[in-house]
Amino acid sequence: MTTSQRIMVIGAGQMGSGIAQVAAQAGYQVLLSDLDQEMTARALQTIEARLQREVERAHAPPAGCASVLARITPTTGLEGCEGSDWVIEAASERLELKRKLFRELGQRTGKATILASNTSSLSITEIAAASGSPRRVIGMHFMNPVPRMMLVEVIQGLDTAEATSTATMELARSLGKEPVLVKDYPGFISNRLLLPLINEAIFAVHEGVAEVEAVDRIMQLGMNHPMGPLALADLIGLDTCLAIMEILQQGFGDDKYRPCPLLVKMVRAGRLGRKSGQGFYPYPASRPL
Ligand code: NAD
Repeated sequence: MTTSQRIMVIGAGQMGSGIAQVAAQAGYQVLLSDLDQEMTARALQTIEARLQREVERAHAPPAGCASVLARITPTTGLEGCEGSDWVIEAASERLELKRKLFRELGQRTGKATILASNTSSLSITEIAAASGSPRRVIGMHFMNPVPRMMLVEVIQGLDTAEATSTATMELARSLGKEPVLVKDYPGFISNRLLLPLINEAIFAVHEGVAEVEAVDRIMQLGMNHPMGPLALADLIGLDTCLAIMEILQQGFGDDKYRPCPLLVKMVRAGRLGRKSGQGFYPYPASRPL
């Protein structure tokens, strides 16, 4: 299926590249934006490598790979947002950055364009307020790695219109995902439950209760988790994990969400997980997910 509908994805990092890929695979025209051309070029290489791996595993015909890539146009900044039916923002997890982007998006796009944020934990209501058009702003929280994970947590801000929610649920389904609707609240549901688990696993290592591998093995073999919490923290990015814990702590005003000092120290040292080549585990040769 191909469609003339256009989705702009802002941020060509781990998540943005995955969202751009699934949108192009679903037949949408995709505009993929980052701060400069080097970032978008790197994202396109990652997408190409992932598509080729799918071909190798015989999940996709080789010819499809080129046509999927041809549907993704790189851009910088907000260039081209005006003609998009959807904007999905997946830029770095910083509230002021997102508010600035949505302020400009609100001014530059028409009433028919739906503006979604892939934030893991920032308030959709607060991001929406900056846009000046909160009725058409919504959270679209994809999971990592986007091409493999079925869930999209759809988050309604205080002023999100019902029509925006309905259209977003349909968009997620058209991308081959299963949307689940929740209200805007710190951590939504996914990260309110997941991050305290990860943080507690880090505390266990910090206190010397068990080694990293042991913590992960216990959760994999004992609880049937496909990957252990520390390997998952590396995949998510330790900076993102820390940001979410801080939001839970501030949002609920409850110190049960205090980030483990070891997590803080690792982020300060630049050990961010897979994306930096070192987290709880080493990643000598980064491989596309
Ligand atoms: P990332 O660091 O891999 O990518 C972020 C990208 O945004 C970078 O390439 C950066 O250059 C770009 N960027 C920054 N400012 C920009 C701007 N003004 N315009 C265009 N691009 C800009 O981060 P990520 O892990 O892909 O996370 C992106 C978003 O997705 C965050 O909001 C994060 O909370 C959310 N998220 C992350 C995960 C995860 O597991 N990593 C899961 C779900 C949601």
